[in-house]
Amino acid sequence: MNLDTESLRVAFAVVAFTLGVLFYFADFRSTRSPYSAWWCVSMALFLAGSATFLLEETPNRWLANPVGNALLVGGAASIWASARSLRAVPASAWILAGGPACSALAAAVDSPATNPWAGDLVFLVTMCLMIGLAARELALGDTEVSRLRMAMAIAAASVAAFYFCRLLAFVRDGPRGSWYNAYVGPAPTTLMGMAFLAVASFSMFALSSENQTKVLRTAATQDGLTGLLNRAGFLDAAGDRLRRFRVDGNHGALVLADLDHFKSINDNHGHAAGDTALKAFAGACRAAVRSGDLAGRMGGEEFVLLLPGVSALRAQAIAADISDRFEAAGAAAGFTMPTASYGIIPIEEDAADLEQLISAADIALYIAKSLGRNRSIIGASYT
Ligand code: GH3
Ligand code: MG
Ligand code: MG
Repeated sequence: MNLDTESLRVAFAVVAFTLGVLFYFADFRSTRSPYSAWWCVSMALFLAGSATFLLEETPNRWLANPVGNALLVGGAASIWASARSLRAVPASAWILAGGPACSALAAAVDSPATNPWAGDLVFLVTMCLMIGLAARELALGDTEVSRLRMAMAIAAASVAAFYFCRLLAFVRDGPRGSWYNAYVGPAPTTLMGMAFLAVASFSMFALSSENQTKVLRTAATQDGLTGLLNRAGFLDAAGDRLRRFRVDGNHGALVLADLDHFKSINDNHGHAAGDTALKAFAGACRAAVRSGDLAGRMGGEEFVLLLPGVSALRAQAIAADISDRFEAAGAAAGFTMPTASYGIIPIEEDAADLEQLISAADIALYIAKSLGRNRSIIGASYT
């Protein structure tokens, strides 16, 4: 089979154009995310790059390699930038501009008007590096790297490995070598590039939807001011935990906290100071609990904790620790933080449902308030 490079390049440009347009309308217009933007930029650069090589058969062929190579390396650099923005890390402008600039320069000084392989060695090295960097970026990810991202990392690593083979064959056989042209020359590369763009665009689209769902879920369950779980988020997560308590035969404690005379902070120091106090209390809760515990803001100046594996007495010590940390935060805020009252309910393995536990904690909290505030009261658990 004799694949002619020129037709394949036209096909590659059509594929890049179609994927770019699809991605723009299906993803970027609704998400406006940086990785989506970089993906569209990369499709545009691949389209322009492959179109530039059509100049090879014209009197302007001296432009084909310097401009075409730079645009293709720019496309690969944009894939790297896109992968990087998935981790919310900005791409260095030096790498983004440096790769294309080096390949343009290398081709420009290598007789591009007469040499069809002008600058190809530097082009292969930079492509290999850029796609390798993109694969690394995709594999790094955060603590929970999604399977989709891993699949994309493997796809990108395979392309980088392909370019590395091209580079080795180019150095060993030269561009006229039969092995180079049959297996890793421009025609097979263009074919493989098309397959990669299709696979990677599809994965990128799926990844983008996955991220968007995550962002929406976080927004729906997180308290905007303190970053703790909001009421709905806490009830949902705590309901799950309680069900697991029953299965695993675990116990724990539920703590309801309310700041004392909080209204006077707003009245005496302003609403912004009130917000600062709420954030400081949330910070104290976060610092005092373990990573597996749940902390939420029920609304206003009322907070809630679910502490698995913790006795009511231990929960009382944790409440005291929160109050100490909260008081200490007053120094940085420039005003005295209010005290807090706590209602604590032990949770047995056959605990009543969450609503009943919260009502019981509310009664304990009410008793703490009526006994003079700034204390914690352990209430009876209802089963
Ligand atoms: P108690 O000791 O009995 O709990 O008295 P309190 O003043 O803490 O309770 P009260 O319910 O009388 O007042 C709560 C105040 O919390 C009233 C409301 O304006 C304020 N508040 C509720 N949400 C916010 C908020 O998001 N930011 C600020 N700054 N204030 C808030
Ligand atoms: Mg209060
Ligand atoms: Mg209150």
